[in-house]
Amino acid sequence: MCVLWHIYTHVSRKRESPSDVERWFRTQAAALWPAALGSLSLRKSPCIREQCEACARGDQHASHVLYLRVKGRRIGLYIPENLVPQIERSLENGRALQELLYEVGRRYTNAIKQERRSTR
Ligand SMILES: [Zn+2]
Repeated sequence: MCVLWHIYTHVSRKRESPSDVERWFRTQAAALWPAALGSLSLRKSPCIREQCEACARGDQHASHVLYLRVKGRRIGLYIPENLVPQIERSLENGRALQELLYEVGRRYTNAIKQERRSTR
């Protein structure tokens, strides 16, 4: 049988208060700037010049576009070639930040469970 979700019913042995978790999260998150979520892709499109050899050959022009979602709307932003490394780095940080949010969710949940247990 395939178990997709492992449900943690027991609090981990590690004792952390909610503020320990907060401090840990803030430190980790601070190192993940710049951050972005989205996907960077290479798009080919014709240019606006009237007599362009590349466009006439059908080669067109390659440019990077960053696709992201803002308030549910999908948008594409043109990314100049020299900024591509910076955008790639922020996307890596964005993915790491997403992982961090899962991890902090787990640790925060454990911390408030322990807190509730100790005040009873
Ligand atoms: Zn062209």
